Amino acid sequence: MNLVKKRVELKTVIKSSIERHPVPVLGIDYKVKIEYKNIKIAELDVEQKTIKISLPNKYKKTSNTQILDLAIEKMYEQIAKVEVERAMEKARILLGFAPEDYTIQKMSKKLGKCEENKIIIHPEIVKYHRDLIDYVVLHQYCHLKYKTHAKSFYQLLEKVEPNYKQYEEMMKQLEK
Ligand SMILES: [Zn+2]
Repeated sequence: MNLVKKRVELKTVIKSSIERHPVPVLGIDYKVKIEYKNIKIAELDVEQKTIKISLPNKYKKTSNTQILDLAIEKMYEQIAKVEVERAMEKARILLGFAPEDYTIQKMSKKLGKCEENKIIIHPEIVKYHRDLIDYVVLHQYCHLKYKTHAKSFYQLLEKVEPNYKQYEEMMKQLEK
């Protein structure tokens, strides 16, 4: 009797574990697995190119896609906090100046922007390679000195990133 019960439970666990299309993080595609467990708060584990999200059983009724999207969004925000801070510091050292402030915030069709000495970076920038994150931040930093994409703006960019043309092209493609 006991054995049968155990087997049934195991089946339920396997059934409630779902997978989703790859999720990119810093240019690497990760698989996402979601599991429901007897826990109070959500857990997130990254192991061998798989992001494992464990959710409390009470979320079983909520739509899976909705939960996954939320969990992935939260994950991007957390990685962005670390990555953007790192890129900001790198740009500050390279250029010798810094913005008054910066925020990580969703925008439509833009990975980054610079407004009134403030830099805004989209959290989903962490989908892409570190080099591109660094470049987008660097581009916004240069706007602190030159508002428009004038010749002087690109001259400053070229000084700190000789391959700026290649990154400009990547940015254009992604911001389409
Ligand atoms: Zn610009």
